[in-house]
Order: sequence, then C-alpha cells, then structure tokens
Amino acid sequence: MKISQHIISSLPLAGVYYLITKNLPAAFLVVISTIAVDIDHVLDYVITQKRIDSIKNMTKAFETFDIVHKNYLLLHSWEALVLFAVCLFFFPNPYLIAIFTGYMVHLLCDQVFNSHFLGKYNTKSLFYFFLYRLHMNFDVLPMRKG
Ligand SMILES: [Zn+2]
Repeated sequence: MKISQHIISSLPLAGVYYLITKNLPAAFLVVISTIAVDIDHVLDYVITQKRIDSIKNMTKAFETFDIVHKNYLLLHSWEALVLFAVCLFFFPNPYLIAIFTGYMVHLLCDQVFNSHFLGKYNTKSLFYFFLYRLHMNFDVLPMRKG
C-alpha cells in the first residue's frame, strides 16, 4: 500500500483507539506506527542501491521493481510482530500496545491489499513471512501480466 493509504487507514483506527483508551498520545502513536513501518522501503533502497535518493524516488522504486530487486523488509514480517507480541506479554505498556496496534494493522493491510487484491508479488500469502523471503534469497518477483 502507498503511504497515503496507510495514513487514511490509520485515522479511523486511531479514533477507535482513542474512544477505547481515552489516551490521545497513544492514539497518535497508532497513526505514527502505522506509517513508520514503511521505513523498511527506505532501508532496503539504501542497502541495495548504496545511496540515498528522494523519498518519492525511493518509495516509487518499490512500485515498479525496476531498480530494487531485493526485499529484505525486516519490519514487514509476521515473525517480528509475534516477537513484539511476546515482549508485550512480559512488558505490557499502553504506548507499546499502541505501537503494536498500528504495526499490526499496517501488516494486515499490506498482506491483504498487496498480496491478494493487487497481486503485487508472485509470492502470494507467504511474502510477509521473513523466513519465506529468506528462503527466496529476498528476490523480488513481481507478477507477470498476461
Ligand atoms: Zn508496508
């Protein structure tokens, strides 16, 4: 999903979060964490291209895959989310729960939208598992049209 779509998805989520918790800073963290997960794309761009470009060019590189042919995407991993959940179990904190909520919704939106509706990757449902991407040597394999 594009960053603008993540912003739009985070606003009603933050509203509901605020209604439930009455914690405005935590609701704000839901918005920030929903958006911030895409820092992965910037990191992957810098790792693969060994340079920094404009945010626009770096995010666009992941729409076409003409430039970037590897997807490490450490945060875009269900395994990382499970580790986060385990940490929350042992160290519950309202602000960490807010970050977890935004992170989880980001991953869910990407999983459903990119893998199923957009058909962006030929990796189907497993793309958002780090171990699967590791098994695929982090290669980007866009869907072929036609
Ligand atoms: Zn994402």
